[in-house]
Amino acid sequence: MMDRINFYNRDLETLDRDRLRELQDERLRLLMKEVAANRFYQEKFRSAGIDFAAVRAFEDLKTLPFTTKSELVEQQETYPPFGHLLTYELSRYRYFHQTSGTTGRPLKWLDTEESWDCWARCWGQVYRGAGVSEDDIVFCAFSFGPYISHWVAITGAWHIGAMCVSGGGMNSEQRLHALLDNRCTVLVCTPTYALHLAEVADHQGIDLRSSAVRISIHAGEPGASVPNVKRRIEESWGSKCFDHAGATEVGAWAYDCEVPDGAIHLNELEFIFEVIDPASGEPVEEGERGELVVTNLSRPGMPVLRYRTGDLVEMTAEACDCGRGLARIKGGVHGRADDMMIVRGVNLYPSAMDNIIRSLPHIVEYEVEVRRVAGLDDLLIKIETGGPSFEETHRAILEAFRAQLNIRVSVEQAPDGSLPRYEFKARRYKRVAEDE
Ligand SMILES: [Zn+2]
Repeated sequence: MMDRINFYNRDLETLDRDRLRELQDERLRLLMKEVAANRFYQEKFRSAGIDFAAVRAFEDLKTLPFTTKSELVEQQETYPPFGHLLTYELSRYRYFHQTSGTTGRPLKWLDTEESWDCWARCWGQVYRGAGVSEDDIVFCAFSFGPYISHWVAITGAWHIGAMCVSGGGMNSEQRLHALLDNRCTVLVCTPTYALHLAEVADHQGIDLRSSAVRISIHAGEPGASVPNVKRRIEESWGSKCFDHAGATEVGAWAYDCEVPDGAIHLNELEFIFEVIDPASGEPVEEGERGELVVTNLSRPGMPVLRYRTGDLVEMTAEACDCGRGLARIKGGVHGRADDMMIVRGVNLYPSAMDNIIRSLPHIVEYEVEVRRVAGLDDLLIKIETGGPSFEETHRAILEAFRAQLNIRVSVEQAPDGSLPRYEFKARRYKRVAEDE
């Protein structure tokens, strides 16, 4: 075990697998007692013929039906504003947030004081896992809207005793100056936005590698576990880049450690995880790619049981050199099942394309379109290269896509600054209408 490793709670994070399962089962029984008062799950269990008291251990979970996001959205449409998703009286809830609604209607999500503590612990693990301490100053480069990620990032930093500087109500230049002026040591934002800030700094002649930032923590997109995106962030900031994963309705369910092997830990202290074949719903073998299904143990006020995240992962319970007993997902989240593009019979994931495009040094920003040309699917990559390097980059993209994904693509030069820049989750991949 490496002695420089940081923990949030060493005793719990290093539990062996058997002890961990016992702890999860114990917490699952407590959860079931609370959730028995939840109308949504009462109805769901009743129609499946399941008794709450019969769910006593991990193995019993398999008897429960999955919960999907569309069910949650439908609840809130049918019984506005919150659906029958609340276990307790409304007065017990204190924190309101909603999803960005990029894949449909925004989902409203409420937390009690107790479930907010769960967020603080989870983010405590995210920060401590990356080596953040009370000596650090954290810069949160967010707009602080109703999205939960912004508020939990701040809450978690306060929880471990770190000072926080909010980047709300600022444009990118102002954020950059706030971060530098206050000598922030930790940057929290999406991977896309870390690269965008680096681009802005470059235009202003600022060398971020000489800034105080030593750690960056990212979520919202797979980027920080995509090797070439991670490398680019680390090179432009001169810092160490860490990934984590979470969702409003689930929680902050995965976090990185200081072992740079490209895998991140599943937070099995607060959640139970399963990986299934998205088509059949059956469990996959350990290490095989499948859809992550999560049960959160610490948010009984608005719980999700066997929730289908849509995130594609490869889970392993092999020991990590950091000493944590928690299982890991190799390469982070590979993307979402519904993000996959099929072009001329080839299955393409945005994270795989991102990894190729980010390996090429001159690409400042890009966008990918799937369009129909003469009755055939065509993948068009629009790139900004900042001028004379276009021809060379063009050739390199064609070659890399052919070699790594076995597909021929079209490449187009976009004028500098013409492609959209993103503060939050990037939307670089789209399918356009027939024969445009
Ligand atoms: Zn580890």
